[in-house]
Amino acid sequence: MKPSLLERFRLLDNFGHSLAAPAYLFHPRKVEEIAEVFELARQSGLSVTARGAGRSYNDAALNGGGIVLDFQQMNRILAWDPVSGRITVEPGLTLCQLWQAVLPDGWWPPVVSGTMTTTLGGCLAANIHGKNNYRMGVIGEHVVEFTALLPTGELVTCSSKHNGDLFRAMIGGFGLLGVFTSITLQMKRVYSGLLNVRAWGVPDLATHLAEIEANAPEHDYTVGWLDATAGGRWLGRGQLHTADYLHEGEDPNPSQTLRVEYQTLPNRFFGLVPKSLLHDFMAPFLNNPGVWAVNTVKYLLGKGDKCYRQSHAAFHFLLDYVPNWELAYGRGGLIQYQSFLPKQTAADAWREMLTLSQRRGLPSYLGVTKRHRPDGFLLSHSVDGFSLALDFKVTATNRSRLAALLQEFDRIVLQAGGRFYFAKNSETHPETARAFLGEETLAQFRRLKKRCDPENLLESDLYRRVFEKA
Ligand SMILES: Cc1cc2nc3c(=O)[nH]c(=O)nc-3n(C[C@H](O)[C@H](O)[C@H](O)COP(=O)(O)OP(=O)(O)OC[C@H]3O[C@@H](n4cnc5c(N)ncnc54)[C@H](O)[C@@H]3O)c2cc1C
Repeated sequence: MKPSLLERFRLLDNFGHSLAAPAYLFHPRKVEEIAEVFELARQSGLSVTARGAGRSYNDAALNGGGIVLDFQQMNRILAWDPVSGRITVEPGLTLCQLWQAVLPDGWWPPVVSGTMTTTLGGCLAANIHGKNNYRMGVIGEHVVEFTALLPTGELVTCSSKHNGDLFRAMIGGFGLLGVFTSITLQMKRVYSGLLNVRAWGVPDLATHLAEIEANAPEHDYTVGWLDATAGGRWLGRGQLHTADYLHEGEDPNPSQTLRVEYQTLPNRFFGLVPKSLLHDFMAPFLNNPGVWAVNTVKYLLGKGDKCYRQSHAAFHFLLDYVPNWELAYGRGGLIQYQSFLPKQTAADAWREMLTLSQRRGLPSYLGVTKRHRPDGFLLSHSVDGFSLALDFKVTATNRSRLAALLQEFDRIVLQAGGRFYFAKNSETHPETARAFLGEETLAQFRRLKKRCDPENLLESDLYRRVFEKA
């Protein structure tokens, strides 16, 4: 590879198109090419950031003025054992490519994000959680081992037993200690391509959280939609979904439902409108009165109790049903704020936050709730409690008011003993990170950074915003 830097200068952005930063873009295909880019960075004095599919809501995969290593072309399946369900992949493989490879053999990824476009490297670096976090934990708990190239040039293999400190820090370490070059994961056995789903309405926040708490232990997946525009006695109303795997023998035709074609989402909405045009239809409704009206109709239609069967892909990746839905948010794009709160304090903290956002005229247009359990990874975002993810529309006129609101959210979440997720929030300050992670965790992270990356080659906009000064 003879890299000419200027030819590679590109403007990259985050998933919500609310942040952008120019960088020198490289697409490595093998480990030696990553090592060459580290060397180039060393010589040119530039920093390096790994990037998967760029689906983080914030600046985790941005590196203004530096080098971005885009892993999407390093996406081969290196080994697959359909008997044990163990798979080894390159980090640029997407969740879509993963489930399509394993489902026909009766396996499903144990943890998936709400979109299948993310890469395994990005999923490990963020240590993603799914709608089953309370039962299956984060994706890192299903990693058998990974190899990673450190900026020092060392290729390390890590598992929970071998190089355990690096294993627990690089998973969830946002690519700041080294870059994953191969990942071995354990898949989950499934006997059908379908899930048994139940959906029902919840009238307020207290009921919303109580019903998640009561239902989660009984079900494989639990997730809530929260109407963040509803106030007063309806504050926190929404709809819950639980889903369960079918047991062996329950699906009369598993050979059909396990096929990829059976899972694939239809190309047209109501059989008429091409999916690619849907975001244009959504755009006129993405304002305060429009979202309030749509949410009210959605809540009223979804109040009753319904049970049905749905494919894995349709249940997990509902958001992918509308390609580029984020474009409906307009030129300013969107950001997401996700807070993780202990079950004892969640209701009061979210009541305060939702009320505050409505009073400021900045309601969230989409709220999603989940049940979580703690994990042992160094920069963990999980708690024994719940998370609430809130999407906000960004405009030229509300940007600074929104930033101020999210600062107040941080204060409320910290007071309530909560945690934050570095794949989502774009306003987290170093003091907030210090407060929720604690000095000891940060000191451990700094020690590992010095050992793996003594010249600080691996930096990102997220690193400079939060970790450099934390
Ligand atoms: C619609 C939508 C739904 C989502 N739902 C969920 C959800 O349910 N649960 C959840 O936890 N998250 C969710 N997310 C967030 C998403 O899963 C994470 O941001 C994930 O990291 C994105 O993966 P990516 O491949 O796009 O990585 P990027 O956004 O490109 O990068 C994310 C981080 O990974 C690092 N990275 C990328 N590749 C490597 C590598 N090879 N080695 C080392 N570091 C690397 C980057 O430096 C960066 O810090 C969702 C995002 C979207 C857009």
